[in-house]
Amino acid sequence: MMKHISILGSTGSIGTQTLDVVRTNRDIKVEALAAGKNVALLLEQIKEFQPRLVCVYDAGKAKELEILLADSQIKTEVMTGMEGLLACATIPEAEMVVTAFVGMIGIRPTIEAIKAGKEIALANKETLVTAGHIIMPLAQEKNVTILPVDSEHSAIFQSLQGNAGNAVHRILLTASGGPFRGKSKEELQKVQVEDALKHPNWTMGRKITIDSSTLVNKGLEVIEAKWLFGVEAEKIEVVVHPQSIIHSMIEYEDGAVIAQLGTPDMKLPIQYALYYPERKGPTSERLDFYKLRSLEFYKPDTEVFPALSMAYEALQQGGSMPTVYNAANEWAVAAFLDRKIRYTDIVECIRREMAAHAVIKNPSLEEILATEQEVYRRLEK
Ligand code: NDP
Repeated sequence: MMKHISILGSTGSIGTQTLDVVRTNRDIKVEALAAGKNVALLLEQIKEFQPRLVCVYDAGKAKELEILLADSQIKTEVMTGMEGLLACATIPEAEMVVTAFVGMIGIRPTIEAIKAGKEIALANKETLVTAGHIIMPLAQEKNVTILPVDSEHSAIFQSLQGNAGNAVHRILLTASGGPFRGKSKEELQKVQVEDALKHPNWTMGRKITIDSSTLVNKGLEVIEAKWLFGVEAEKIEVVVHPQSIIHSMIEYEDGAVIAQLGTPDMKLPIQYALYYPERKGPTSERLDFYKLRSLEFYKPDTEVFPALSMAYEALQQGGSMPTVYNAANEWAVAAFLDRKIRYTDIVECIRREMAAHAVIKNPSLEEILATEQEVYRRLEK
């Protein structure tokens, strides 16, 4: 049966890989695409996939796209701004929404998609980190399945299959350790944008690549795992595994550990989410254990990479604190990429903002967005 989807963030790393999976399998119809400003790529995607609706968040860029489309036979409707993102998230013809925006811009579209009863393939982790306490109960109320796209969470989800009713002893969340594993604090002081944008195992968007190098990404994933799987922070342990072959594991009460392994390739977890519970053909090279030879494991170095401990702290304080952790990081990563702050300032911005914030318990959506704005205002000073 043909599946109908909408992709929020179609021009990004996850978005384009989702379209690769669609292109290969040829049994999914793309009904809507949303992006920020990359009109050139969006135009190519429109020509190939002919969606009913697209949204370009940036109004000027949306106009550009309309002009480009005017001369063609294509009937795709173009919208802009949050109104357009929400229209893509709730388009009646799609039963599933792939959330692949980067950052907190994804919160409202995700909430509206769930309210409209759409299945969610979730990559946009910042949404769950900041609004997990709103999104997860809403999904339950609306009987909506949230399928993780993040490779670690997909691995956990896959390792949970067939074990309904069995208590999880702990989640072992694997981390590559990023490009600066083994470096000293002093060495981190000298890191430049180009150094931080090189990830050893994965090719990803710029923000998540920086987040992986600071271990903020792993911190966000710990919080994401808490919401997705309803497991307390004490039961989530981060294991550094430089080869990124084991994508994460579950240890059960009896000591059995179930893991999902694979070549590092985001198309596999994307495809698993798109077709769950069905498995399709391979998305990349199959694992060759004889080439691999050995897999290594280390404890994370939280002295040099304090962002991971700070995420546990944010989770422990709860309420609006994970929003502060996330928003301060979003601001700081953008400032670092613009060469306005140093690499080591990223973690300092998060630390400072967390120290300055008085936690709001069980924050509403408005309070989450207001907290984000407050963090941005303070950091911009
Ligand atoms: P990218 O930066 O590559 O892509 C982000 C996408 O979001 C682009 O399509 C961009 O559009 C769009 N976007 C950004 N801001 C807006 C906005 N205001 N309105 C509408 N669209 C917007 O990010 P990734 O694909 O790497 O990451 C996406 C999410 O998936 C993140 O939450 C990340 O943590 C998560 N993730 C990513 C993985 C990866 O391998 N890349 C792995 C696991 C999780 P445009 O470019 O047109 O501006």
